[in-house]
Amino acid sequence: PDPYADQPYGQDADGHPDGGPLAGLETREVSAWFGSRKVLERVSLAMPAGEVTALIGPSGCGKSTYLRILNRMHEMVRGAALAGEVLLDGDDVYRPGRRPAEVRRRIGMVFQRPNPFPAMSIQDNVSSGLKLAGIKVSKEERQHLVETSLRRAGLWDEVSTRLHTPGGALSGGQQQRLCIARSLAVSPDILLMDEPCSALDPTSTRRVEETIAELRGRLTIVIVTHNMQQAQRVSQTCAFFLATHDTPGRIVEAGPTGQIFGSPRDQRTSDYVNGRF
Ligand code: ADP
Ligand code: MG
Repeated sequence: PDPYADQPYGQDADGHPDGGPLAGLETREVSAWFGSRKVLERVSLAMPAGEVTALIGPSGCGKSTYLRILNRMHEMVRGAALAGEVLLDGDDVYRPGRRPAEVRRRIGMVFQRPNPFPAMSIQDNVSSGLKLAGIKVSKEERQHLVETSLRRAGLWDEVSTRLHTPGGALSGGQQQRLCIARSLAVSPDILLMDEPCSALDPTSTRRVEETIAELRGRLTIVIVTHNMQQAQRVSQTCAFFLATHDTPGRIVEAGPTGQIFGSPRDQRTSDYVNGRF
């Protein structure tokens, strides 16, 4: 049980009331290029607030690019271009004058390879994002945030007696949950997860899935996965992406996860989710 379940989660740098309404994410006609090569074609998708949306599809169809577009990491890639709208809580994250750092604080990202700072202590790993985001907290508040974030990431019981040990000393699965805790510490509205379990063993994968299930309803999650069972276990909405040798990645079909897996409308979706690809 989470002793902080009813407490406000942290503090919000934008004056956005924390613990307030959940924010959803939506893209309208998002296209993307690397140089002259178009890799995404008019992707429109609503990722409902407080729910888990799974992005599925073969390698190279643009899922990671799409995630990076959502939190303005795409523009850090040389030659990358973009068209369309990304609405966070109805407000375009690419609105002129909007700071990328503010967007990235509200939309956190966890990668396939756990990437904690290996030599930094577990607790400093968790609180490292606060400084980067310019969030000032007292020592007590910081300790509280570290504990809350580790609890929410499902890691507290395993590390509470050794918060000063280096993050790199943890197992791969624990490191991934540490990265989730680090993302949570800055109270994001959205958590993007790019194949978060692909480098993990089945037990660690289960733990991360449990964490996702716990987080559902507290924030909005978008997860890329190649594991069809996982998509069905964790998500409520699912979008199937596909590219061909001469067409950029696009969404073939999106909808409630039960429908995408149980009664897909497009033959290609059916083939993919049933492993005939
Ligand atoms: P997925 O995550 O679905 O496997 P990606 O988003 O990684 O797909 O890649 C989509 C397409 O964009 C691929 O053809 C890939 O080669 C290309 N791509 C990805 N990143 C870059 C980059 N930094 N520069 C040029 N092309 C890239
Ligand atoms: Mg990818």
